[in-house]
Amino acid sequence: MVTVNDTTLRDGEQTAGVAFSAEEKIAIAQALSAAGVPELEIGIPAMGAEERESIRAIARLGLLARFMVWGRMQEDDLKAAAQCRVDMVNLSIPVSDLQIEHKLKRDREWVLGAIRRFVPAALDLGMEVSVGAEDASRADLDFLLKAAETAEHAGARRIRFADTLGVLDPFATYEVVRTLRVTVDMEVEMHAHNDLGLATANTLAAVKAGATHINTTVNGLGERAGNAPLEEAVMALRHLHGIESGIDSHRFPEISRLVALASGRPVPANKSIVGEGVFTHESGIHVDGLIKHPSNYQSFDPEEVGRNHRLVLGKHSGCSSVIQAYADLGILLDEMQAGTILARIRRYAGSVKHAPGVEELKLFYLETATRHPAHFEV
Ligand code: MN
Repeated sequence: MVTVNDTTLRDGEQTAGVAFSAEEKIAIAQALSAAGVPELEIGIPAMGAEERESIRAIARLGLLARFMVWGRMQEDDLKAAAQCRVDMVNLSIPVSDLQIEHKLKRDREWVLGAIRRFVPAALDLGMEVSVGAEDASRADLDFLLKAAETAEHAGARRIRFADTLGVLDPFATYEVVRTLRVTVDMEVEMHAHNDLGLATANTLAAVKAGATHINTTVNGLGERAGNAPLEEAVMALRHLHGIESGIDSHRFPEISRLVALASGRPVPANKSIVGEGVFTHESGIHVDGLIKHPSNYQSFDPEEVGRNHRLVLGKHSGCSSVIQAYADLGILLDEMQAGTILARIRRYAGSVKHAPGVEELKLFYLETATRHPAHFEV
């Protein structure tokens, strides 16, 4: 079992150019909670009164999910977080020397001191605390462990391991998360980024190494190349590692559409799990195999994610697909007729770059029958 902390409403919204309205945030929180996502990171209170109001509006809905807000480990952010009446705050602080020196203009001791001060202060304000170890993947390992131990002793229940720039691979992720897990006795959350296309792989590696929590976003929305996609992490953990998250995967299509619309970031056709084209088949060999037995060309049943196989005709179709498609329209073809129409379909696919629809297929039938009456006599 792993606990998903979905941050679509925080790191997802942090995507350049993305801004959710309060209504959109509420709709997304409701959809995620209804699907059984147990924890939601729902915003950055320090951004202002409007953001805090939308966070409070979500908190008032009485959803099953637990709520977390995000802030920097500093006074104003903590005060703003306390006004939101949520269960948990993630207080973020850089742990790499690079960011400690060039962003904070401080040193390691100062960072440890901040953790010792701010964790109890947040607890006093009635919130549970996750210490967000920013840029943890570029931190000195000994210092990262020291920061985690300091967080644990200060009373934090969780450390968020942030691969802020997406620079890890699954092997390195496994090593560092494993070390973290055996060094401290607290929850360890993986926060992966997809700059090298490895966010899901790194998230899985972290879980294998003992991470108790994972950060995800719907459609992989998030800074730059985005975060680990919720739908990928849930399905990969289930099918590759037999690890359940308690999330209803049937709801992924509606959640994906909701977030795509609200974010103005359409989902690419080939996006895993939720992309329009990922259960669509054209190749004659694959379609023939699927018709004979779905397992020939299916890794998991698309029904599990609320989808169906879709067979389309195109350049790579074979005669059996053509016969099947026309039979669905009530038109029975023999092999020779199917072959003649297939040539027409290939010309069409080559020029318009998408599959013909029902109207086009009917038109091709009429055209072909007119041109080759000998093949189509009734
Ligand atoms: Mn991030």
